[in-house]
Amino acid sequence: PIRVRFCPSPTGTPHVGMVRTCLFNWAYARHTGGTFVFRIEDTDAARDSEESFHAILDSLSWLGLDWDEGVGKGGPHKPYRQSQRMDLYRQVAAELFEAGYLYESFSTPEEVEERHRARGEDPKLGYDGFDRDLSQEQKAAFRAQGREPVLRLRMPDEDITFDDLVRGPITFKAGSVPDYVVVRANGDPLYTLVNPVDDAAMGITHVLRGEDLLSSTPRQVVLYRALMAIGRAQVMPRFGHLPYVMGEGNKKLSKRDPESNLLIHRYRGMVPEGLLNYLALLGWSLSKDRDVFSPAELIASFDVADVNPNPARFDPKKCAAINAEHVRLLESEDFRDRLVPYLADAFPDPADPQWVSRPLVSAPVFAELTEREQTVLSSAAPLIQTRVQLLGEAREMLGFLFTSDDALELDATAVSKLKDSAPAVLDAALAALEGLGAHEWGTTRLEEVLREAIVEGLGIKPRLAFGPLRVAVTGRQVSPPLFESMEILGAESSLARLRALR
Ligand code: GLU
Repeated sequence: PIRVRFCPSPTGTPHVGMVRTCLFNWAYARHTGGTFVFRIEDTDAARDSEESFHAILDSLSWLGLDWDEGVGKGGPHKPYRQSQRMDLYRQVAAELFEAGYLYESFSTPEEVEERHRARGEDPKLGYDGFDRDLSQEQKAAFRAQGREPVLRLRMPDEDITFDDLVRGPITFKAGSVPDYVVVRANGDPLYTLVNPVDDAAMGITHVLRGEDLLSSTPRQVVLYRALMAIGRAQVMPRFGHLPYVMGEGNKKLSKRDPESNLLIHRYRGMVPEGLLNYLALLGWSLSKDRDVFSPAELIASFDVADVNPNPARFDPKKCAAINAEHVRLLESEDFRDRLVPYLADAFPDPADPQWVSRPLVSAPVFAELTEREQTVLSSAAPLIQTRVQLLGEAREMLGFLFTSDDALELDATAVSKLKDSAPAVLDAALAALEGLGAHEWGTTRLEEVLREAIVEGLGIKPRLAFGPLRVAVTGRQVSPPLFESMEILGAESSLARLRALR
């Protein structure tokens, strides 16, 4: 049975590459009926944070990426946080040392460089194997100088080959990977040890992870062989390295790029379905002619063998366009409900340079809105469902409905572009609308009356006739349909706003 894992280190904000890795592991587990294990690799106390840990959990739950075993869920291999598994790592390190796979190394980085220089080699060549076969006396002498050794894994003097699930066979030449440190001098086990030890202990069969980790795979393979030899691992997992994600200018998407930050996508108003769909396209596709698919369709078709090894490019425009397709597909009440946090300004505004440090305001849900807000939003949401790509756009589009008349800000550009005929248009509109009975205040009638007054009455082309009304009522040049907007806003506010611009 297939067992895959997602094992992030809780440092910093969740990022796109991390979540793409999670998604592919999840999809592979779900497609094959396998088990998805979620483990936290928090052995680096200096860099790990609880804040980051919670942000990861929160993001996965928002995206609907669920796991079968792991943190917060338990399972046969608990605990699933590496910080709680230190005894195991000490034990396994001792066994590997005992069996001769690890050895004590006393060389300082300066000494290693010095030796390379003395041999006329590049000083940055990496560790040179100097301590591999120290005698007891030599070790005692180093200890007498007050040195504490690190433990290194002895790399074999042979090529290391594995068959990558994405890239096919990959060979690292004998001698190209130095003996590397698995336990620090103070006894702390490193990623290079704990990651394969846990994969072995948890029976992981497929390791799908980012290409940035490809260079650690030959070491992991060698360590795995040692674990098998001492009875700590059953089978060597298969490895699959997922392609790099590139950003602007074909550079690797870096943590500094806003696009790489997962939270920003949520704050802009990607819906989970849309973001999962787009992230899946970073290295995979459903078919040549179909970009838009649901998580269920992804699961039905996903195979790691179909992942493209070439770098994928993160294209924000395409990401938003994919989202728009998913937004359209939402049930209208669902769409309406999902707008609430955006309209309530519960999320930091990603356009604000300080947004990362602004705390999340707890977001109200639809039922907590006032009665008027509920009515307005229920009528207004359908007007924009096919017009937004990102839910955050609703703030601008619908803001005018949730603002008091005297607080409505008029877009300066929109005002400056008004034609000389604007006052006459507003006058004609007011005259026509003031005569309307309350029961007549509806989209169809409004359109009729205003067309008659402005297009026919003043002889202004329909394309230009309603601009001043739109600016007065919504404050903007572009808005949801005007007559619907006026109906929702109601007679009193609409008239007040027309008068204000007059
Ligand atoms: N904790 C590692 C990381 O976050 C995971 C590496 C792996 O998937 O093997 O980069």
